[in-house]
Amino acid sequence: MVVHERLCAAYGCPIAYFHNLDPLSELVSSLLSHRTRNADSGRAFKRLRERFPDWADMIAAPTDEVEALIEGVRWPELKAPRLQEILAAVRDRTGGLSLDFLGSMSVPEARAWLEEIPGVGPKTSAAVLSFSTLRMPALPVDSHHHRVAQRLGLVGPRVDVGPAHPILRAQLPEDWSAQDIYDNHEVLMIHGQKVCHFRRPACGACVLADICPSAFRVA
Ligand code: SF4
Repeated sequence: MVVHERLCAAYGCPIAYFHNLDPLSELVSSLLSHRTRNADSGRAFKRLRERFPDWADMIAAPTDEVEALIEGVRWPELKAPRLQEILAAVRDRTGGLSLDFLGSMSVPEARAWLEEIPGVGPKTSAAVLSFSTLRMPALPVDSHHHRVAQRLGLVGPRVDVGPAHPILRAQLPEDWSAQDIYDNHEVLMIHGQKVCHFRRPACGACVLADICPSAFRVA
């Protein structure tokens, strides 16, 4: 908790939500963002949305066209067919193209439902529930969040991003609100971007240096 409190004091909680997308659109956005800069995935999402105001039309579109629209993201040749397959899977499982019904489930149930779709992992399922208009208390863990958590000893050095999700969520109070959980993810991610860099973290400027087992030990 001290980590959360100090980082919240440093970065100003509550952090404003950066998206206001319905959950299906957030799913598309999250898939585009994998290993891609926010500006590039945001541009690709905008181009898809303009070309396909109805996501059903994207399922039926030539995959080459989808790939060309998202050329600015990493691995567009993989993401284009995957996006179409995932949207088709949602349509086939629900008979429509909406994920709003997830809001009536518990977080574990909703995450399990999403992760049954091939290509949807724990980070994406949590992002859909947390970042979308559902605003559910699910904790996503991205690479920055994961790196900071490992250096702080919150997860072990060999625990990958996927398995880190339940471990880090279990360390937060059960009754935390969606905003609290979102803030926790955001402040750890921001700290990774601004201070606890992949190379040469700025430990001298870190508000956690006195409690961090990795302080001044990472090259
Ligand atoms: S003390 Fe250094 S390694 Fe630890 S969290 Fe801060 S910046 Fe990262």
